[in-house]
Amino acid sequence: MDEKQLMERISATVLDDSAGALAPEVALRPDLAGMRIFGAPLFGVARADDPLFEALRREEAVGPWHMLPGDVCPGAKSVLSVFLPYIERIKASNAGGAEPSAEWLHGRIEGHKFMVRAAGAAVEALRAAGHRAALPMADGRFFAQEGATTDPAAFPGVPEAARGAYTSNWSERHVAYVCGLGTFGLSKGLITEKGACGRFFSLVTDLEMAPTPRAYGGIYDHCIRCGRCAARCPAGAIDTESGKAHPPCGAKLVETRGKYAPRYGCGKCLCGVPCEGRDPSRE
Ligand code: SF4
Ligand code: SF4
Repeated sequence: MDEKQLMERISATVLDDSAGALAPEVALRPDLAGMRIFGAPLFGVARADDPLFEALRREEAVGPWHMLPGDVCPGAKSVLSVFLPYIERIKASNAGGAEPSAEWLHGRIEGHKFMVRAAGAAVEALRAAGHRAALPMADGRFFAQEGATTDPAAFPGVPEAARGAYTSNWSERHVAYVCGLGTFGLSKGLITEKGACGRFFSLVTDLEMAPTPRAYGGIYDHCIRCGRCAARCPAGAIDTESGKAHPPCGAKLVETRGKYAPRYGCGKCLCGVPCEGRDPSRE
């Protein structure tokens, strides 16, 4: 298996209606049954020894707890980051009001479950072809936390310095930045050439792949600082000068969990904005 075959396989899985469509028994409305959640993926590649992975461990980036590719997959040569953009129907449905649309809730929850399955299938395909491959988000050491408490019992295995912070030891958006997929926005989304409205996953492998050029110099190059995300945020979490504050955003997500459990979500800052489905800095 080479990188082209790997990417074609992932794309085929994502676009396969029988694999990616919403099951009727979980659909929040009858008309949502059979809805596919993601459009054609974007891919970015970085060498596993790219110095920017080490740079993610700086305090001003993610933190010293961020794993390196070699921690996840010994002998790693490459990191593949995949952006799965939401379909237009999901984005359009969530572009108004203060409450998440049913389509958005499905994108967040069933979309995540589908993404994990698709990512796991890609790793299995690499292993079947004789390669080492691993999924950081499936690593037993992986954590991603949304703050709120510093109780050590709530963070088994999480370093003390990271407890209670809005952080992770494998940040998919930072990894996507390293892999050439895009740069950050005021809303903390990662703005790719297909916008910021979607989900990211990554895998680490000993398959040699050609690195994607990082066609940017700064970490905010793709954000035009239009402030539309700040105006859209029902929690007032985004400031046009200082960017996004995590606590009010986290509180909004907790609120939606209370209303829509087992689902939750918001995403108003990603819908109906210039960076929803494109890189607005390219105009
Ligand atoms: S809506 Fe405007 S300010 Fe906010 S992240 Fe997108 S481009 Fe940047
Ligand atoms: S997800 Fe919702 S609450 Fe959080 S920053 Fe975006 S719009 Fe605001």
